Amino acid sequence: MTRVRKIAKSIVINASKCIGCRACEVACAAFHARPRYSSSNPSRARIQVLKDAVKDIYLPVYAGEYTAAECAGKNRYVIDGKEYSNCDFCRASCPSRGRFKEPDSRLPLKCDMCQDTPPLAMPKCVEWCPNGTLVYEEREVEVEAETVEIGEVDVSVEAMIDKFGARAVLETVAKLAKL
Ligand code: SF4
Ligand code: SF4
Repeated sequence: MTRVRKIAKSIVINASKCIGCRACEVACAAFHARPRYSSSNPSRARIQVLKDAVKDIYLPVYAGEYTAAECAGKNRYVIDGKEYSNCDFCRASCPSRGRFKEPDSRLPLKCDMCQDTPPLAMPKCVEWCPNGTLVYEEREVEVEAETVEIGEVDVSVEAMIDKFGARAVLETVAKLAKL
């Protein structure tokens, strides 16, 4: 298998610095609006901040993979005297909650690290975070050359149809194809 070098991108979250201002959500939603910057609805953001001022909890979480089935996780975590559930940290767009779903189509949202051409110096949420909570990092890694199997695409589309129905999937594809 051919090995290639690529840039691995990540965002380090220092939750203790988060003030719950939600600037990251607004910046992400505006950057991903179509046309770009035409709206800034935070419910379309690929980062969501869990905020509970009474308990002093401010936890930014990035949207990760879509999952067709909810998990059975019922664990609770106490960190620095604050109690969290499994779901608080979970990045999945899952059937048991509304987090990380496009509000109109209900299709899953996933962080794409603000991919653009030409590439941005840093993701928008990092750029607009006023308190240094989010820190962008890049490092070079060696990986196997990616091969996209058509079977993987089939499985993904099947999962989407299974979850959201063929009509919603087709309407969304048609909408995106016009952009
Ligand atoms: S990196 Fe970009 S896509 Fe991901 S949450 Fe931040 S602003 Fe949104
Ligand atoms: S912009 Fe930064 S400080 Fe504000 S809510 Fe988002 S992560 Fe927290």
